[in-house]
Amino acid sequence: MQIRVKPFPRKPAYYKAMTSSLVLDDLLQQAEIAHGHLCAGQILGVRMAMLACDRLGIEEPRGKDRKRLVTFIEIDRCATDAIGVVTGCRLGKRALKFRDWGKMAATFVDLQLPLEQDLFKGLRISALESSKEKAAELYPHLEKNPQQMHAYREMPDNLLFSEQWVEVPLPRSEFPGFKGARVACSVCGEGINYDRFVDGESDPVCLGCANPAARYYQPLP
Ligand SMILES: [Zn+2]
Ligand SMILES: [Zn+2]
Repeated sequence: MQIRVKPFPRKPAYYKAMTSSLVLDDLLQQAEIAHGHLCAGQILGVRMAMLACDRLGIEEPRGKDRKRLVTFIEIDRCATDAIGVVTGCRLGKRALKFRDWGKMAATFVDLQLPLEQDLFKGLRISALESSKEKAAELYPHLEKNPQQMHAYREMPDNLLFSEQWVEVPLPRSEFPGFKGARVACSVCGEGINYDRFVDGESDPVCLGCANPAARYYQPLP
């Protein structure tokens, strides 16, 4: 059987409208298309990313400013996709870094704001726990999901988020587009990129071979 693959358009349709200004309704629409549904998490994610761009003076994160942002995201939920839509930061471009901390929070690092070598200024934004209660106060007659969706569109940033300026170490080798040497693991033979190995007796050993008990998988017998 032959599988025919349609050529992917250079830019997905939801990219079209947005290279000039960040407009909440437009972005929510794009997030909905990218994510499959609109939900409270999407709204939080879009607003979080918009706030970050605003604070950093980034007008066109997917246009002229597309090389500025690296985003560290601390959760893999709906908001993650929304943040990707607004910022253009994607895992596959190494511009989205996942730190699995289970928190609705992200740090937006501006590569145009170096503090010293390999150290950059960024803004960490975290969703406030109290925002849920505020949403319930605003729309007591609605059920939880529509209640939060309505409220999160309207509530001012300071009731939704806390913000903190931070410094983030980011060596060149972690930049989007960095091309490093690939080495082969001296145990399993698989190729390893971006120096994700430990030094064995004489040759590099991949992280899986170096610590088999810590693998996220175990081979079946
Ligand atoms: Zn969702
Ligand atoms: Zn290996």
